[in-house]
Order: sequence, then C-alpha cells, then structure tokens
Amino acid sequence: MSLPILRPVSRRNLLRGSPLLLAGTAGLLSTPGLLLAQEPARRGAAGVRLAANENAYGPCEGARRAIAESIDDIWQYAFGQEMRLKQMIAEREGLTPAQVLITAGSAEAIQLAGLVYGLSRGEMITADPTFSLTTDFGKLAGSTVRSVPLDDTLTHDLDAMAAQVTANTSLMYLCNPNNPTGTLVPGDQLRPFVSEMAKNMTVLVDEAYLDLSEEMARHTALPHVVAGENVIVTRTFSKLHGLAGLRIGYALARPEVVEKLEAHRMGVLNLAGLRAAVASLEDEDYQRLSRQRVREALAVTTQWLDDLGFRYADTWGNFVFFDTRAPAGEFSAAMREAGFQLGRPYGPYPDWCRISMGTVEQMQAFAAAARGYFAGRMG
Ligand code: PLP
Repeated sequence: MSLPILRPVSRRNLLRGSPLLLAGTAGLLSTPGLLLAQEPARRGAAGVRLAANENAYGPCEGARRAIAESIDDIWQYAFGQEMRLKQMIAEREGLTPAQVLITAGSAEAIQLAGLVYGLSRGEMITADPTFSLTTDFGKLAGSTVRSVPLDDTLTHDLDAMAAQVTANTSLMYLCNPNNPTGTLVPGDQLRPFVSEMAKNMTVLVDEAYLDLSEEMARHTALPHVVAGENVIVTRTFSKLHGLAGLRIGYALARPEVVEKLEAHRMGVLNLAGLRAAVASLEDEDYQRLSRQRVREALAVTTQWLDDLGFRYADTWGNFVFFDTRAPAGEFSAAMREAGFQLGRPYGPYPDWCRISMGTVEQMQAFAAAARGYFAGRMG
C-alpha cells in the first residue's frame, strides 16, 4: 500500500493545535518540590522502555502510600471495593455509579465490548491502524470487522467510516487520540458524528490518552453518555496516572450497557490498584505535573525530528509516530543496540515508528542516540 500524503513537513503544520506540543519546554522544569521533579532511573531489563506508552514518572506519592498500606488487607478479595472509586468518577463526570464500570485496565472494558457486541455476530467498524483489542475480541466472538484507513493526516476518516455502515453494524470503535498516531478528532467534529452514528449502533470512544490534554473537556465524548446515547467511553489509570502495572480503567455508559459488560467479566479487580487510583484521582498537582513532563519529553523528541526534517503525526498522546524513511525495524534494531526499546511496525506504515515518551532525561539520551544513528545513515 502506498504511503499517505502528509502535508509538507513544517513545524507549523504538524503542531497544528496540539497543546501537548505547542507548550514547548519553556518554564516547565521549574516546578519545585513534587515527586515528579525527582527523575527516577526507569529502565527495563531490555533497555529504556519507549515501547508501550507508559508513564515512567508514576505513580504519585499518595498512590504509592495507598499501595504500601494495602499490604495489610491484600489477603482479601476486592469484592465490592470499587464503590469508592466508582462514586468519585461518577461525581466528577456528572453520572450515576450505575453508569460506571471499573475494569482491569481499560483493556478489559474494550475487550468486554468487543466480546459482547461481537456475540451479536454483526459488523464492527474501526480505523487502520488503531488500537485493535476491541475488534480482536469482536472477531473472536464471531463479528466481521471493516477497517477504514486513516486520512492523509493520519487521523480518523469519519466520512469513510460512515460509508461502511450497514444494517448489520453493531459497534464502531473510535480511538481518540488514536494509537499509534496520536491524532485527535476534535470535539466539534467528533460530537455530531458520534450522535448520528449512535442512532443505529453502539459507539465506543477510547479516551486512554485524552486526559493528557488540559483541553479534555472540549474533546471528550462524555456528553453523549450523560445524554443517555448509545455510547461507551473508556478511560484508564495507566497513562496520566502512571499505574499501568496495577490494571485499573473504566467504562462510562448507560446502566444497561454497564450491566451487560459486567455480566461477561471473567476476573476480579485488585485491591491495591483500586486504592491507588482513588489517591491518584485526588492528586491534581500530580496530574498537572505529569502532563507537563509528557509535554517536555515530546518537545525534546519533536525537536530532533524537526531538525532532521522527519514527518510525524500531530500527537495528543504520550508518543510520537514518525516516518523513518526506511523499514522501521532498522531504526528499532539500532536503538535496541543503543539500549532503547521501541514498538513494532504498524501494518500500513512499515516505515513509521512509534516512540513512547520516557522521562525527559531518557528522551534527551534517546535524541542523542537517534541523531547519531541518522547522521551515520544520511552521511
Ligand atoms: N486503549 C488504548 C488506545 C491504548 O493504547 C491502551 C494501552 O496502551 C489501552 C486502551 C489499554 O490500556 P490499559 O488496559 O492499561 O488501560
């Protein structure tokens, strides 16, 4: 398949609107006193982890305390212990607890949706490339999946997705911001589209990365859930909150949809994760600082991409997707040698590589390694 036509590379074009990128680094390193200011040396056995869109700074102080203190109760099953978190989320979002399902990471919520709607054996519509767990489970359950290429800015092509709707469509999956590209369908485009689609099917909007933006309220699909439309919104504590290893996420939906998803659940939630999530949700200073660190790490990364003239998608996530101008595996292999783990190539974009953000210092070290590699390749 031919590569998409992105606009010519210019910082102005590619940074269109994304506050994560526009903020740059000015003044961001000056916040004193908080845990995030201490740079932890986060490194997996196979190198610095820049492959899974994690948050190397997390979790916050309160969450760490909650995890440590939960040791005394860890012999208990967490039956019913999600109520506090459920109530907190419901209150913040203007919903009732019956509209909130706490899950083992948001992955469980989107797998459950794939399974439940897949069992109807209808069709699902998704983008390509995007996060595939929903439709993977849909296929397992017997659904047919229609995958719609992204547009030439690597963003969801809403018109093309609408053109795939049939009388059998049971679910549409929209990953906003999209993984692996990081692109966002802004709220003013998303909302009329979602309302229209939800008249005839369930629309799942995956907002795993949206809370990394200060402008979340403008772009979230939450108002559709509040209005009782046939929409599921999923979110996670794995990204902004840095709790990926404790597996806490949630779905927001109509009470009958929450019940249907919950009825198919196979596991039980974990107690330390539930308590850590409550503590992290309460700590807004930490959340602000966590966003800042992601912005700084992105600024370090887009700086060398700009300097070297690489094309990259306009990201709203904690990762950047860029065109290495050669099979992406070559760059990943060289970076692995240099001590950095990167993600796999994504189907229609074999030359593009997704770089997850580590700490700012890690991204500075990575920038030096990448500059060295490309200097060798270009020179
Ligand atoms: N949705 C998207 C778009 C993701 O990229 C991920 C993980 O990377 C998830 C959901 C699942 O994350 P978790 O299960 O940790 O909440």
